[in-house]
Amino acid sequence: MGLTDAYGRRINYLRLSVTDRCNLRCCYCMPAEGVSKLEHRDLLSYEELLRVSEACVREGVEKIRVTGGEPLVRKGLVPFLKELSGLAGLKELVLTTNGMLLQELALPLRKAGVARLNISLDSLKPETFARVTRGGDLARVMSGIVTAEKAGFPPVKINMVVMRGINDQEILDFAALTLKKAYTVRFIEYMPTLCDHEWGAQCMSGSEILQRISERYPLLPLVSAEMAGPARNFRIEGAAGAIGIITPISGHFCESCNRIRVTAAGRVRSCLFSEQGVDLKPLLAMSDDDTLRQTVRRIVNEKPGRHHLAEEQEEKQRVNMSRIGG
Ligand code: SAM
Ligand code: SF4
Repeated sequence: MGLTDAYGRRINYLRLSVTDRCNLRCCYCMPAEGVSKLEHRDLLSYEELLRVSEACVREGVEKIRVTGGEPLVRKGLVPFLKELSGLAGLKELVLTTNGMLLQELALPLRKAGVARLNISLDSLKPETFARVTRGGDLARVMSGIVTAEKAGFPPVKINMVVMRGINDQEILDFAALTLKKAYTVRFIEYMPTLCDHEWGAQCMSGSEILQRISERYPLLPLVSAEMAGPARNFRIEGAAGAIGIITPISGHFCESCNRIRVTAAGRVRSCLFSEQGVDLKPLLAMSDDDTLRQTVRRIVNEKPGRHHLAEEQEEKQRVNMSRIGG
C-alpha cells in the first residue's frame, strides 16, 4: 500500500521526534533561556513510538528519520532503534544529531541498524561553534564524526545553517570538506522559526550561497536519489563528496515534499509549518491500530499544498523546532 496526498505527492518519509530536550541551545533553534520542557509522561513512550512507526510503515512509509531535540539524550534509545530498524517494510532508518554524544554512541547506533547519520555543524571554529550552539564543544563533535566512520557508518551528511555575519565566511571551508572525503555538506537557509528580529539581515538565500561557492569552485549538478530530501545537489569538479542547498525560504520545495512528522508529544503533522495536526495519544490509549492507520491516511490526505512561512511570519507563532524535530 502507498500513501498519496490530495496533490498527488507520494508520502514515504517519516520524521520521528523522540524528545524535545537538547544538550545544546543553537541560536536559530531554541531561545537561550526559558525553554519549557515536556514532562516525561507527555512524551510518547518507546512502545507508542513503535506502534506509530509501524502504522506509518504499513501505510507506505519507507524511510524514518529519528530526530529531536537531541535524540541521543533520550535514555534507552539504542534498544528502541534496534526494534525500529527491524520493522518489516522499512527500507531505511537514519538519524539526525548534533554529534555531541557520538563518541560514546556511534558503534551502538550502527549495531542497532541505523544506516546513516546527519550531523548539524554550523562552524569549524571552536569559538563560533560554542557561540552558535551556546556551549557546544567542536572537538567532541569532530571526534564523534571520526568514531562514526570507524563504527562503519558511510561518510556523514553535515547540515550547516548559514547566517550572514555569523558563519557565512566559512561557506568555502565547509564546501572544501567535500574535496577529499565523501562527505555531503548541505547548506540550509535560516528559517525564522524563533521570529528573531535579526532574521531578515542574517538569512542568506540559497542562490547567494551557491554563487559564493561557484566563484571559487566549478560546480556540477547532480541528480537526486530516490527518497532523497529537498536538497539541490552539486559536486565540486573532482571532489569525493557532494554539496546540497536547501532552500525552505527562497525556493520552497513543497511540491516535492514526501514527509510527515510525529512530534515528541505525539502529534502527527503533515507540514512543519502547519498548525494542523492530530494528537495520537488518545488513539494510542486504545489497542486498535486500524484507527491509527486511518488517522495517518487522513493527515496525509489533508496535507497542505505548500507553506507560506516567509510571507506570514509577522502573524505567526514561533515554531518549536526542537519539539517538532526540524
Ligand atoms: N538536535 C539534532 C540536530 O541538531 O541535528 C536534531 C534536531 S534539529 C531541530 C534538526 C535540524 O533542524 C538541524 O539540522 C537544525 O540545523 C535544523 N534547524 C533548527 N532550527 C532551524 C532554523 N531556524 N533554520 C534552519 N534549520 C533549522
Ligand atoms: Fe538542539 Fe538540534 Fe536545536 Fe541545536 S538544532 S538546539 S542541537 S535540537
